[in-house]
Amino acid sequence: MKIAWEATGGTNTGRRRQNNEDSLLVDAEHGFFVVADGMGGHAGGEIASALAVQTAGEILARGGDAKAALREAVTRANAAIFDFAARNPRMRGMGTTLTACVLDPSGVMNLGHIGDSRAYRFRNGVLEQLTVDHTWVQREVDAGRISAQAARTHALSHVITQALGVDENDTPDILEDTALPGDLLLLCSDGLTGMVDDTQIAELLAVEAPLPELANTLIRTANVNGGVDNITVVLVRVLSGSS
Ligand code: CA
Repeated sequence: MKIAWEATGGTNTGRRRQNNEDSLLVDAEHGFFVVADGMGGHAGGEIASALAVQTAGEILARGGDAKAALREAVTRANAAIFDFAARNPRMRGMGTTLTACVLDPSGVMNLGHIGDSRAYRFRNGVLEQLTVDHTWVQREVDAGRISAQAARTHALSHVITQALGVDENDTPDILEDTALPGDLLLLCSDGLTGMVDDTQIAELLAVEAPLPELANTLIRTANVNGGVDNITVVLVRVLSGSS
């Protein structure tokens, strides 16, 4: 089935942080979307996420095989961050998550993912998390040692086990799925998901409203619920394409 799409994105510093270390890219023309959540002091986080998004954008804009492009985007972004940190010793320890979605008019969706930003699909009123967090608590949940609910409020909930700039050999999860007309795709940083649980995200996405309004509502709700971290949201609505 042929698909088309519309997309929007927004980011907000939140209510506690002084700077915004998240970066995003919405390229509706080429059909790719990226969210990155940086970490590291001395502006390292801001630079890491910006480098990752910029590098990924350059690779993904070339088109070609989406999975190969996503792998290359992660490899190149990782190298760019290591290179920058090597030349700027104060920036050592800088890193970033990266979650990227590539849509094809044929209806194939590919995701590349590393870290604890997330991709969700909202279909027929049901919200499904497509990515798995690369976090210590997710490992514990997978091993059955703690519950998903306990993981949300766990003291170590922010400890990431994989990120760009941390391990030169880290490889992303690559996931392929089908996008159907009517789907809403959400890419977001943990500044959203730490403040707004899946039930509330689903309620907010169920509202009939233009995409930018939905994105604003998600960000506003994260701030109402505390806004302790930077909040980034990319929303993609899948439409019927001309056959
Ligand atoms: Ca964050």
